Amino acid sequence: MHCPFCGDHDTRVSDSRLVADGDQVRRRRQCARCQERFTTYETAELMMPRVVKSDGSRASFDEHKLRAGMLRALEKRPVSAEAIEVAVERIRQTLRSRGEREVDARDIGELVMQALDDLDPVAYIRFASVYRKFQDLNEFRAEIDRLAGASGRDEADRGDADGER
Ligand SMILES: [Zn+2]
Repeated sequence: MHCPFCGDHDTRVSDSRLVADGDQVRRRRQCARCQERFTTYETAELMMPRVVKSDGSRASFDEHKLRAGMLRALEKRPVSAEAIEVAVERIRQTLRSRGEREVDARDIGELVMQALDDLDPVAYIRFASVYRKFQDLNEFRAEIDRLAGASGRDEADRGDADGER
């Protein structure tokens, strides 16, 4: 592993641990020459199913797109990068473990909504309002009520409204 700072070959592993429920190894490394520290993540490369879009077209699974969608919903929310990575990895794991060659884009959207629901109620509403295109105000309100009930007096009923149109 080359040092990303000076390009030297001689980097040492100072710590190695399992993350994302044991599906990922995180290693802290330090360069022997410039002493900079950095982190690497190692995961098994397994086949991801192809994604079937609503118009019937197929595309390869795009983890960057998935993460970007989640980050957009989580913008300025108090959720750590680590927690987001764990959620992304869990979605990948769920999709792989189904053992299907193809998966509906809609199913991925549902997994993202579940993940956001666990991470942050405001991010969930932001994502769901765009993704699910709430049919009417009552449907939207029902989701808000559900969240408010689940988390007591939380942001959901104070209404951080910038994600809601
Ligand atoms: Zn270096």
